[in-house]
Amino acid sequence: MTALRIGIIGYAGRMGQAIGHAVSTHPRATLAGGVVIETPPEPIHGEPMITNDAEKLFPRCDVMIDFSSPAATPDYARMAARHGVPFMSGTTGLSDKDKDALSEVARHIPLLYAANTSLSLVVMKQLTTLAARLLRDDDYDITILDRHHRLKKDAPSGTAKSLAEAVTAGNGGHKEPSLAAFRAGFIVGEHEVSFVGEGETITLTHTVTDRAIFARGALQAALWLHGREPGLYGMNDVLGID
Ligand code: NAD
Repeated sequence: MTALRIGIIGYAGRMGQAIGHAVSTHPRATLAGGVVIETPPEPIHGEPMITNDAEKLFPRCDVMIDFSSPAATPDYARMAARHGVPFMSGTTGLSDKDKDALSEVARHIPLLYAANTSLSLVVMKQLTTLAARLLRDDDYDITILDRHHRLKKDAPSGTAKSLAEAVTAGNGGHKEPSLAAFRAGFIVGEHEVSFVGEGETITLTHTVTDRAIFARGALQAALWLHGREPGLYGMNDVLGID
């Protein structure tokens, strides 16, 4: 089987580098190149293209992965549609308007958006929905806490927001969760959902200690996305979960 050519937007970033490493060690993927905003190094023949002009990289890619900035993601998604290249984005901090822009693009190309590309986070969300459903009529307060490294730009995290949606999916909005975020040190990513009752608490915790987890999930999602019908997909689809 020929390896799929992967492009990475935000290549110079923490996630961009981790995904680059995941691609370099995957038998079904090869790195076509990366998009950076800094002046790129001189091109070397036969090496992946590192460029600040994404238009040049898209034609060389079978799938584009984006971990950059919410200010840039919608434009790159529209560029992907113009080039007919499937687009996987894990960039967080997108506004509702940005998400609408991705939905519009997804009418033309396969597009997968995931605020958290850890595969086990899918399980965490299912457990959250189940707990919210089972406790729906009881007197529980619900809290969602995220802890991340000090350089993370958005708070609460995109994952915390998606866990809040998982609560609503379970209890129909019967009770809204309270969200809180800490930014400290080098924490890769921790999320805690608590159902706090009178005299008892249920807490679900998901901890990522290595961003290679997000990188592997993002690559798996990108490989899954290639060859799909146009549409908006999520990690649930990658795992075949409703
Ligand atoms: P980072 O700041 O280390 O990297 C982002 C990179 O994108 C930087 O190199 C920056 O220069 C670059 N960039 C910004 N605007 C750009 C543009 N217009 N074109 C090209 N490159 C551009 O951040 P990070 O920790 O790598 O995270 C990147 C994004 O991914 C953030 O939104 C973060 O919250 C998100 N993230 C998602 C997951 C997930 O599982 N989905 C996991 C970790 C981080």
